[in-house]
Amino acid sequence: MKINEFNFAGQKAIVRVDFNVPLDENGHVTDDTRIRGALPTLKKVLADGGALIMMSHMGKPKGKVKPELSLSQIVKNVSDALGVEVKFAKDAGNAEAEVAALKAGEALLLENLRYYPEEEGKPVGVEKGTPEFDAAKAEMKSRQKDFAKKLASYADVYVNDAFGTAHRKHASTAVIADSFDAGHKMLGFLMEKEVTAIDNVLKNAQHPFTAIIGGSKVSSKLGVIQNLLDKVDNLIIGGGMGYTFIKAQGGKIGKSLHEDDLMPEALKVMAAAKEKGVNLSLSVSTVCGKEFSNDTERRVFPINQIPDEWEGMDSSEESIENWKKIILDSKTILWNGPVGVFELENFAHGTGEIAKTVAQATQENGAYSLIGGGDSVAAINKFGLADKVSYVSTGGGAMLEAIEGKVLPGVAAIGE
Ligand code: AMP
Repeated sequence: MKINEFNFAGQKAIVRVDFNVPLDENGHVTDDTRIRGALPTLKKVLADGGALIMMSHMGKPKGKVKPELSLSQIVKNVSDALGVEVKFAKDAGNAEAEVAALKAGEALLLENLRYYPEEEGKPVGVEKGTPEFDAAKAEMKSRQKDFAKKLASYADVYVNDAFGTAHRKHASTAVIADSFDAGHKMLGFLMEKEVTAIDNVLKNAQHPFTAIIGGSKVSSKLGVIQNLLDKVDNLIIGGGMGYTFIKAQGGKIGKSLHEDDLMPEALKVMAAAKEKGVNLSLSVSTVCGKEFSNDTERRVFPINQIPDEWEGMDSSEESIENWKKIILDSKTILWNGPVGVFELENFAHGTGEIAKTVAQATQENGAYSLIGGGDSVAAINKFGLADKVSYVSTGGGAMLEAIEGKVLPGVAAIGE
């Protein structure tokens, strides 16, 4: 079912949202982006005349009640954002009374789902590989089904709008969907936007298609790179992960970040790119620092001739110029991961230039640009350009898994 075709009037809707917002030491919300992201879906339920039940996790309580991770701390923020006083159910697994009392136009938030180990469905207190593990796993899976059924029993319709956890097969993100027929389960508006954005690059990309992959480690992005090799025309690899590629070819990279055990994979990626006709573009030179600090001495070296005592920390002007040409010539752009240590002001220049160029390609050339995965989102926000690109994904891990070509359980469970 599509959410815009569904009328929630007289229905109780249980909506899985991602309210895993950052809190300060006094329990105050420091960034309410995730709450705002869910508003279109939540407001539609209320505006139609439905009763709204919201459920989410916060942090990693690992199946235990941890007051510092209580969702009660965000009730006021959600109330203010929704414009409706939000009620709170202190126990997500025993909320029958609160749900029964809920009327059309009213909203209820359930306590942190991960206070229950059943939410994630992982056996507690049993080591993987021990003889007891398999039995404990089976028992927990069965308890997870019961927990999901309990949550489902609160409502007539299920909506999943939590893209941040769409790559998890948890009680509230996937298992619960089994209790609803196709006409009574759907993706929320935020999920729909995320899925469309990923389809725009993975399935319906206009060419030339360029992926910019940066960040610290090859190991965390190898699956992404491999899947993209079959889709892109240009693959720019920058940031910390680039040095493994340079060292693998015999280059001297000084103290720069690298993963020796991934050098064979890096060479395989280079060979595959050549075979598939993908233009793989690495840095040609790099801005190095003597220490890993903002005020350290800086000097530019050719990428494969970095002296022992220096460390590559930002992309050089020369590398950026090459990449700008590629980006400005692209019709589809996917950017994941900064191309330098952008958290340090003196090494943020290269990442800022990438952000500006992706924005320029979008605004001036009509390219479709998708930015996603933790730090690249922080980077595009840091340079104030989030509204100048086509889409900024809200889910780091989920976005990366989708780009790896994996099916997201939270999306598959809805069965569209
Ligand atoms: P990731 O989470 O893999 O996308 O990595 C993001 C992190 O990579 C950021 O914290 C950056 O500071 C870091 N990073 C990018 N380039 C470098 C580099 N040349 N050396 C060390 N860290 C880097």
